[in-house]
Amino acid sequence: MDIETLINTTENKLAEKYASIERIAYINQIKVLQAFQNRKIALRHFTPTTGYGYDDVGRDTLSEVFADIFKAEKAIVSPLITSGTHAITLMLFGLLRPNDTLLSISGDVYDTLQGVICDKGIGSLKDFNIKYDKIELKNGDFDFNAIVEYIKKTSPKMIFIQRSRGYSWRNAFSTEEIKKVCSLIKQMAPKTIIAVDNCYGEFVSDSEPIESGADICAGSMIKNPGGGIAPTGGYIVGRADCVELVGYRMTAPGVGTEVGSYAADYRPYYQGLFMAPHITAQALKGALLFGTIYKELGYETMPNDNSPLNDIICSIKFKNKNELINFCQTVQTVSPVDSHVTPYPWDMPGYSHQVIMAAGTFVQGASIELSADSPIREPYIAYLQGGLTYEHVKYAVTKCVENLFRKN
Ligand SMILES: *Cc1c(COP(=O)(O)O)cnc(C)c1O
Repeated sequence: MDIETLINTTENKLAEKYASIERIAYINQIKVLQAFQNRKIALRHFTPTTGYGYDDVGRDTLSEVFADIFKAEKAIVSPLITSGTHAITLMLFGLLRPNDTLLSISGDVYDTLQGVICDKGIGSLKDFNIKYDKIELKNGDFDFNAIVEYIKKTSPKMIFIQRSRGYSWRNAFSTEEIKKVCSLIKQMAPKTIIAVDNCYGEFVSDSEPIESGADICAGSMIKNPGGGIAPTGGYIVGRADCVELVGYRMTAPGVGTEVGSYAADYRPYYQGLFMAPHITAQALKGALLFGTIYKELGYETMPNDNSPLNDIICSIKFKNKNELINFCQTVQTVSPVDSHVTPYPWDMPGYSHQVIMAAGTFVQGASIELSADSPIREPYIAYLQGGLTYEHVKYAVTKCVENLFRKN
């Protein structure tokens, strides 16, 4: 079969799944629009500020709009948060105190958080005598029995859930699955704070983790909620008392979110948030297309035409390291920016393995834009995500498959 036919038949096969993605995007678009209208967003909200940033209306209102959309009491959305890792770190350090326990119930945390939690001598949670435990997933789902047994013995201060798959071979959690585990935890340990790493999960479903019973969640503005337009930043949303403590950690105890100026303008944050439901849908359709086509070609993939879709990532298990590297390099060649450079596996801050990252993006490293990355370790899985337009992703899959055919 030639590539064009393969893509056409795959698109037909995915028609119903695409329709369901578009229905969710519609619901989320209206949700976002209404939040803008209710908060009476106007030009003045886009204007930059300097110095302390007292009464920065752009910053404060952006946070209110975010809180409305995520059905949370309070939010922090800030260009001063450097990344998703930073946002999650603020969430952990804002709420945990010496001798507390942090329990992850979704197995290992994301690679860059390992250092934040466990490494010695760099100001990690461990250095502050905060204990860390984890419960592995069981067949890709929460291990309910193990969670019950753990909580029977002691209630941890915080239970941590990573919604998205990270660099592991599993599916992301749906908000329904998160709801089920949250209600169990709330029944047994009502005081335990449930914190969610929401990276890549925003706008994938018509509800968000706070509606599922989480107390707080955090994510990156150069992933889904920035809509490909926000230039940097992170966010935290949740219960007012929790988010307030995180604010004290972000700036200074007692000062919190009253300060923080931004000398560029806030328009890209508002505009990006407005675009986010649509852009997320483009990325979701792209992930499905890649996953289904590579499945047809005999690779193990997630998602594909018969698996659930709960984050914007597509995982493809390659046969060897070379295939993986070739794939990432091809993705780079079809990028709008830096298409002429070749990515190689390299040491990256916060990662324990070498990582290859194809990201020919307008915003450096923005993974809501078409990008592919992978730690160089077995099994050789490429994690592809993003795409500001479905058409771009479709062109990318054409080129990747062409290359694969040529090599074999
Ligand atoms: C992207 C990501 C993070 C944070 O990564 P940054 O590169 O620091 O933004 C954390 N957890 C998960 C699951 C992620 O996908």
